[in-house]
Amino acid sequence: MTEARGRAALVTGAGSGIGRAIARRLARDGFRVAVNDVDATATGRAAAEIDGLPVVADVGDRAAVGRMVGEAVGALGRLDVLVNNAGICRLGAIADFPEADWRATFRVNVDGVFFCCQAAVPSMVRQGRGNIVNIASWSGKSGAPYFGPYCASKFAVIGLTQSLAREVAAHGIRVNAVCPGIVGGTEMRARVDDAARALGRPTGAERVGLIPLGRLAEPDDVAAVVAFLVSDEARYMTGQAINVTGGLWMH
Ligand code: NAD
Repeated sequence: MTEARGRAALVTGAGSGIGRAIARRLARDGFRVAVNDVDATATGRAAAEIDGLPVVADVGDRAAVGRMVGEAVGALGRLDVLVNNAGICRLGAIADFPEADWRATFRVNVDGVFFCCQAAVPSMVRQGRGNIVNIASWSGKSGAPYFGPYCASKFAVIGLTQSLAREVAAHGIRVNAVCPGIVGGTEMRARVDDAARALGRPTGAERVGLIPLGRLAEPDDVAAVVAFLVSDEARYMTGQAINVTGGLWMH
């Protein structure tokens, strides 16, 4: 995807897991990448492996996000791609889900996407082009027991994606979401599996029989779809929420 040469991308939550794979993939495709995470050590490590720009910030903090985007645009000279990947997942029955966990979920998964889009769009409008990809989930398309707050936050991400796509299309900015299924090997997967076990629910690996392609997703499977969406190959796509679930979810 040689058209990426000289272009700049910012990936949130890129210190580990799917975000790290996306940052690596975009760097391989020729982007200069600003690597964000709230964890400073993880940010430094992930940035170092791709000669990226480390930008530590909590995406739920509007002022910090403004500073982060300013720093990225200042250092890289432009911002062509924003990937909103940072996210958290806490399990529990809605009836007794702690308010603090509900608010934490929305702070990262929804406020984070909202603040980063607000901060990045003006640069993209000035450039007359840009690409935003929001990492939602198949949990943004169907409710699931004990995933209520997480599902609600990911439904919200798809709503924001569709609305922003319509608002900024005339400026040459495309906005899409990616909806991974069950992704193995990430810190979130380990935490969710532990919580599922505690609730007597199946882990990700125990649900593999439901996946037509017969395996969990790998972070690189998601990164490949992000790379496609931000490339000119996807120039006629905006406002979409693309499933990357191995066929687990088809709507
Ligand atoms: P992960 O926990 O491995 O990585 C998430 C990263 O985000 C971590 O490095 C964490 O430090 C960072 N982060 C958390 N809060 C932050 C904040 N406030 N500001 C900046 N960074 C923050 O998770 P993952 O599995 O790689 O998931 C990445 C994204 O993919 C999330 O949005 C998640 O909801 C989504 N997703 C994951 C799966 C899965 O099965 N793992 C499935 C569907 C969707």
